[in-house]
Amino acid sequence: MSVKSLKDLPVEVGVVYEGERIRGPDMYIELGGPKSDYKFELALVKDEKDVEDGKVSVVGKDIGDFDEGSRVPFGVLIEVYGKEIEKDLEGILERRVHDFINYIHGMMHLNQRYDIWCRVSKDAKSSGLKLEDVGAALILLYKQEYSFIDKIQITLITDEQEVKKHREGALKAYEARDERIRGMKDEEVDVFYGCSLCQSFAPNHICIVSPQRISLCGALSWLDCRASAKIDPDGPNFPVEKGECLDEMKGEFSGINEVIEEYSHGSNEKIYMYSMFDYPHTSCGCFEAIAFYLPEVDGIGMVDRNFKGTAVNGLKFSTMAGQTGGGEQSVGFLGFGVLWMQSDKFFKADGGWNRIVWMPSYLKEKAKDHIPGDVYDKIPTEKEITEIGDLKNYLQEKNHPVVARWVEEEEVEEEKEESIPAYEAGEVPVVTAPAMTVPGGGGIKLILINAKIYADKVIIKKVE
Ligand code: SF4
Ligand code: ZN
Repeated sequence: MSVKSLKDLPVEVGVVYEGERIRGPDMYIELGGPKSDYKFELALVKDEKDVEDGKVSVVGKDIGDFDEGSRVPFGVLIEVYGKEIEKDLEGILERRVHDFINYIHGMMHLNQRYDIWCRVSKDAKSSGLKLEDVGAALILLYKQEYSFIDKIQITLITDEQEVKKHREGALKAYEARDERIRGMKDEEVDVFYGCSLCQSFAPNHICIVSPQRISLCGALSWLDCRASAKIDPDGPNFPVEKGECLDEMKGEFSGINEVIEEYSHGSNEKIYMYSMFDYPHTSCGCFEAIAFYLPEVDGIGMVDRNFKGTAVNGLKFSTMAGQTGGGEQSVGFLGFGVLWMQSDKFFKADGGWNRIVWMPSYLKEKAKDHIPGDVYDKIPTEKEITEIGDLKNYLQEKNHPVVARWVEEEEVEEEKEESIPAYEAGEVPVVTAPAMTVPGGGGIKLILINAKIYADKVIIKKVE
């Protein structure tokens, strides 16, 4: 590697550029992303003899060889060796590609694993940025951050066939990593782990990762975080004592609440690990999937990043992502990692799979072995139901377990109506929420804590 310092690169590199977004008009090229079927990033811990320290290989065309506006397959392979490095560190080393690429002025990196989405700006291309420079920057940043890396080599791939080939191996590696954590229970440990890596984008967000709840980016398991916290105690992952279990069903723990309050700078006082209601886990923006509440049927729908269509609530993933992210506790939306679907803590407090009323078909196929047999055929996908108006009948016809809730709720409603006269007319709150964010213009945001909103009249209009 001829580049000895970040200063030798054609563009600046530093944490100051981390939040940079590259919009369409400023983009020279997109590497990976939703328009490319083949993309991945993978970190592998190798034997000493298999890593040539400082080597950057580029397989396929470089940035400047593509036409402006191209969207191309992309693979990032990081191979490391270190006497102290355990296999469990692969996940966290791989996840750092996210912030390290974002440090490069004129580059943007989103998502993780099989779903990476990078952009190079026109300015960076004009400055002469090449993939070799990107590899060199990554090597320098890894070595700077992790003194235990003795040797590191990076391969950046844009050739479609090569990306496709390596992606197969990457998918197997992710699966093997996920397999190691399967079977572990939250009850078996006293410590969960925090990850603060996304605070640069979402300053009040941290992920709490437990054995049965993978991080919402899907890239870090409890084992990954444990290995990271052990070898890099000043890094983004840290142990969080569970403390007293305050609610087993919802997954509320005193130690977790303390950490949530501290890291959210007082914005959030607690979270429920196993629920999307009241005090849900916050979402930064990297979530693999989004769960959304459907008040029409009192059920939960979900959609993941790969679903290109419109979900049953009439919204696309990208639209919902805006509502879900930012690190606030957003009522009605929750970002999560898809591996959580395999856990018996999956929406445990909300009814688990009995509350799921819509999901994309391939996601359903993926979760097949984990959805209870008696509900599997009752959950519609985009193949059966595309409109919210048809969902209620479908669930009723199939006798989906959520239907039983409607009956209970009707009874509760009747009881409630009788008690309403206790309030003076006009004093029944139409909205109550522990915390509620109201988007405002002119760069301001209004956060209402313990809000109760009263109104003479409520008009609900569909926004076209
Ligand atoms: Fe860490 Fe969560 Fe961000 Fe993943 S999404 S990098 S676990 S903070
Ligand atoms: Zn994030």
